[in-house]
Amino acid sequence: MRTLICLSYLSLFLCSCLPENSLPDESTDDLSNIDIELKEFFIAFENAAVTRGVEMDLSEFELTGSIEEIHQENVAGICHYNSNLPNRITIDKSFWKNSSKMLKEMVVFHELGHCVLARGHREAENQNGHCLSIMRSGTGTCTTLYNANNRKYYLDELFFYEE
Ligand SMILES: [Zn+2]
Repeated sequence: MRTLICLSYLSLFLCSCLPENSLPDESTDDLSNIDIELKEFFIAFENAAVTRGVEMDLSEFELTGSIEEIHQENVAGICHYNSNLPNRITIDKSFWKNSSKMLKEMVVFHELGHCVLARGHREAENQNGHCLSIMRSGTGTCTTLYNANNRKYYLDELFFYEE
């Protein structure tokens, strides 16, 4: 199965599923294939898991992570799934340049939600129209304001929600 999931960053979020045609990257047993700017967010993800009692060693996943232009309109991040290859995360360069640290974290964690936690999308919202999960696809109508106050809620949801 070869699919690709995208997270866009403007008012509407889109998800697409497309074939992946890349060749295998050299395998690694650490985070050396993660862009230096992404690494702190990967480590924050590990820490968020561990502080919740969830065993998490991202080096076991042999992930790669890069920041480059994604030539699809309004797409901020992609998790490339390929059953024969380690998963790859790509974050859009323009998005990265123009985003706050919190928004960067939300997008990286969303993609790790796909690539590491094998989560799909969750569109549920509360009565104020706020998304109940950062795993929202964006095709719905809810909005996500991810900030220092609600970060704990969203990360609890990310690691413990059962689909
Ligand atoms: Zn997604």
